Amino acid sequence: MMTGTYYSASAEQQLSEAQRVLDTHVTSSATGRCVECDMLGPCWMRENAVVIFSRTIRLPTRQPGASQPELINARRIPVARFPLAS
Ligand SMILES: [Zn+2]
Repeated sequence: MMTGTYYSASAEQQLSEAQRVLDTHVTSSATGRCVECDMLGPCWMRENAVVIFSRTIRLPTRQPGASQPELINARRIPVARFPLAS
């Protein structure tokens, strides 16, 4: 059940979940182990969260319209015309 909701989570939910893991799965400087799961840190959950985090962070910086300037121009022309017709 939990894994099902995890995979259907939005990028924003994944990001906050990854953030939560990064906050809780902290490698103790005293023992060198993860304070949450007691594995030698950084544990796989933290590593996994780092991957999700960096992957999700990169998504909003992609601008699909930027590589298609024709598409933006094509959208402008009808918008400029139709308000006069209606
Ligand atoms: Zn951990």
